[in-house]
Amino acid sequence: MPDYDMVVIGSGFAGSTATLSFLETTEKAGQVGRVALIEAGKKGTWPGGSRWTRPFLRLNRDTTLLGDRAERVEQNLLDLDYWRKLEDEVPNTVKFMQDHGVKLIHHDEENAALDFEEQHFAYPVGGGKEIIDEYLILIAKYETANVFYDHEATELTLDDEGRVNGVVVSESDGQQRTVTAGTVVLACGGFEGDPEMLKQYTGRDADDLPIIVPGIKYNRGAGIRMAMDIGAGTAGQFDMVHAELVDPRAKTPHSVIWGQNYGIVVNENCERFHDEGEDYLFATTELIAYDTWRHQNQKSYFITDKTVMDRFEGSWVYETAALPPEQSDTIGGLAEKLGLDPTKLEETVSEFNAACGSGDWDPVEMDGKETSGITPPKSNWANPIVEAPFSGFPMTAQLKFTFGGLKVDPDGRVLNTNEEPIPGLYAAGEITGLYHKHPPATSVLRANTFGCIVGTNVAESLSAAATG
Ligand SMILES: Cc1cc2nc3c(=O)[nH]c(=O)nc-3n(C[C@H](O)[C@H](O)[C@H](O)COP(=O)(O)OP(=O)(O)OC[C@H]3O[C@@H](n4cnc5c(N)ncnc54)[C@H](O)[C@@H]3O)c2cc1C
Repeated sequence: MPDYDMVVIGSGFAGSTATLSFLETTEKAGQVGRVALIEAGKKGTWPGGSRWTRPFLRLNRDTTLLGDRAERVEQNLLDLDYWRKLEDEVPNTVKFMQDHGVKLIHHDEENAALDFEEQHFAYPVGGGKEIIDEYLILIAKYETANVFYDHEATELTLDDEGRVNGVVVSESDGQQRTVTAGTVVLACGGFEGDPEMLKQYTGRDADDLPIIVPGIKYNRGAGIRMAMDIGAGTAGQFDMVHAELVDPRAKTPHSVIWGQNYGIVVNENCERFHDEGEDYLFATTELIAYDTWRHQNQKSYFITDKTVMDRFEGSWVYETAALPPEQSDTIGGLAEKLGLDPTKLEETVSEFNAACGSGDWDPVEMDGKETSGITPPKSNWANPIVEAPFSGFPMTAQLKFTFGGLKVDPDGRVLNTNEEPIPGLYAAGEITGLYHKHPPATSVLRANTFGCIVGTNVAESLSAAATG
């Protein structure tokens, strides 16, 4: 008999929901299952990405997924079977969250154009850490559940017929042991914490892209490697990542600057380098962050004026910034405060202002107000920067998560390179690959959704086996 019915690797949203839904489903079926939750981080710390999120959720008021845009973002690359399952299950996921004490706040956005079909998103009261802490308290009430912190999974084990039957874990003192299980669930994130894997998949400058919060240092791609070692297939774009623009002056992590699509962004030579009006707010930050990292020596500057800053005063758009922008009544004065060449910045702003077309500036629509005659163009929201005081944020790109991961079917079973399920192996959350481009505010929902799906599926197959 194996040590456990199920072993889960990783205690973020995916791992904690898989564990809790497994326990509750087996309890309802009359015999509580035995589960080990293995976590590389220390107890009481904030390991992984989930605990650091607010998070934004792409939800309608009726708790369905705001979905159409994802299909447009990902185009023909989207795994439609997986996406349809996510759409179908998201209302159940929200119910699971609410049944376990999570309260949602719905926000109708009146100022900024969002990537969603409607000007709406939701977020929970309290952040990811509080929600996961609550899930772990509920898990701890089950005598059949054991949580092992400071234990890193390193290898999957197989039985003679090729079924996954356990995992090798390394304890903090370096001791290794094998935990045997009927099923193993990989929920241990992407590879943003592993510079070697980043370099291998994304290219030469991966060392220069710091992680945005310390918790994701544990996400070293171990789960992806372990599964690939036994023949797992992959999905999602391995050379693409989600990075955001943060303020290098900030002393606290995750000081994200949004709203670049309403002003201009220059490099350290005061040159514009990206069409700031190419896409909506979230996507623009991601695209310019990538460009800042790859092509601009990791330094860029968001320049804007009173019109834009007034519009977003008191709004969530700048709530994530730890510090106010540098300000001056002249563009030259602003340049000096940002450590930029005043003459060059004045020239760039003048050239941009002269190129702004006519038409109304409308921050809640792709307004088509574009520049003409400059390179790069600005395709939307090209409003002259003329109203003092002028504002500027210095920015650098930091890494949030990777896109490439394991291929799973809509039941969360890990597929091999022939798209056949690997017996005994499931995966959920960021470790599973999906994105090529990135439909924003989807990741937490998919970690929770597929965590629940996997936990329930493993519980049901256990009950089915017990009843013969
Ligand atoms: C700062 C930040 C903000 C974000 N904001 C949003 C947002 O607003 N909306 C949204 O939808 N998404 C957001 N995301 C993305 C989203 O949070 C993640 O994609 C999602 O939470 C991933 O959940 P997960 O459970 O798969 O992984 P994680 O939460 O990263 O959990 C993985 C766990 O596995 C552990 N682990 C790793 N390797 C091992 C190993 N070998 N052995 C044992 N344990 C291991 C890690 O320590 C970690 O606890 C954000 C991410 C970050 C970092």
